[in-house]
Amino acid sequence: MTGDRHTQVVVIGGGQAGLAAGYHLRRLGVDFVVLDAQAEPGGAWQHTWDSLRLFSPAAFSSLPGRLMPPRSGERYPDAAHVVAYLRDYEKRYELPVRRPVRALGVHRDGDFLRVRTDSGTWSARAVISATGTWWRPFLPAVPGRADFGGRQLHTVGYRRPQDFAGRRVIVVGGGNSGAQIAADLAHEAELTWVTPRPPRFLADDIDGRALFDAATARRRALDQGRGDTGGVASLGDIVAVPPVREARDRGLLEASPMFSRLVPGGVAWADGSRAEAEVIIWCTGFRPALSHLAPLRLRGRRGRIVTENTRAVDEPRLHLLGYGDWTGPASATLIGAGRPAREAAREIADLLA
Ligand code: FAD
Repeated sequence: MTGDRHTQVVVIGGGQAGLAAGYHLRRLGVDFVVLDAQAEPGGAWQHTWDSLRLFSPAAFSSLPGRLMPPRSGERYPDAAHVVAYLRDYEKRYELPVRRPVRALGVHRDGDFLRVRTDSGTWSARAVISATGTWWRPFLPAVPGRADFGGRQLHTVGYRRPQDFAGRRVIVVGGGNSGAQIAADLAHEAELTWVTPRPPRFLADDIDGRALFDAATARRRALDQGRGDTGGVASLGDIVAVPPVREARDRGLLEASPMFSRLVPGGVAWADGSRAEAEVIIWCTGFRPALSHLAPLRLRGRRGRIVTENTRAVDEPRLHLLGYGDWTGPASATLIGAGRPAREAAREIADLLA
């Protein structure tokens, strides 16, 4: 451990989840550092497409301690507004974020966990991993992928519709990203929108606030042994934010069922029908970015780690924040990040005491 830097807690990831952890650790008087691989504040929000709109109004997209200010003239703020908010948040609370620093591996060393990075090693009594999912795009296995002669990209590679003006584009995915990107492209490209099941739009008056309530109610019901309420999935898949609603109402968001294979010039369905395409955009989700935890050899399924709330069951000095409901109801949302962060910080403070 010679040459290591020492602190009580290392938070890996300086997006919203890492910052929410920092806020609560600071309040509890814990010594910590946040290591973030990005050169600038804002986590994944720096990299989304230009027209992305939050699915909740600003006040309902806030981290602990500070309300997100409204964006003038816009009910649903854009990603640039979130980046500005996160930049201000870490400055206001003087959070000790080091960047760009990438954690390469977390290792056990007696009473300590050592975090090996591309800028030296930190040694700590506990680690919070808050590295998000944006960095691990998921692509489903579909036959013929290598045969397709056009361009394929994932949500993470999409920026603006002008890049695809006049092109034949297939957007795959029936979640918020798929619907928003399809709506974005509908006026510029020759669009085919493909969804594995018919798109399920939430009622127009339902937004992220209701999703947060549903996720919280589900967790409460499960904790109290009252069974599964179905949570967010029971309401629908797609928040009808204004651009999506407008495209849907103009009949531009009619979805086709999932194709069965890619062919050189496009895609083909099992019944023999085909659609030509020059571009396929896969809006098919993400997996948690957890490769830095591999040295700990923790059990898990589907790329996850077994947790009790935020604590890793097989390594109680490790907490996971963000990622999805499995690390706290709606924990991978702005408004939902705060509560699990508070609980993780409290548990760690108890461990250190
Ligand atoms: P991130 O923002 O990804 O931050 C993680 C940070 O960790 C990044 O800076 C990353 O560089 C860093 N990192 C990763 N690996 C390492 C490493 N090994 N070492 C050091 N640093 C590392 N939520 C809402 O509340 N409202 C919405 O409207 C909404 N819309 C969304 C739209 C899309 C398209 C997506 C994908 C998500 C949306 N979300 C929304 C969900 C969620 O709020 C965001 O995904 C958010 O970015 C998650 O924050 P995070 O801090 O968990 O992860």
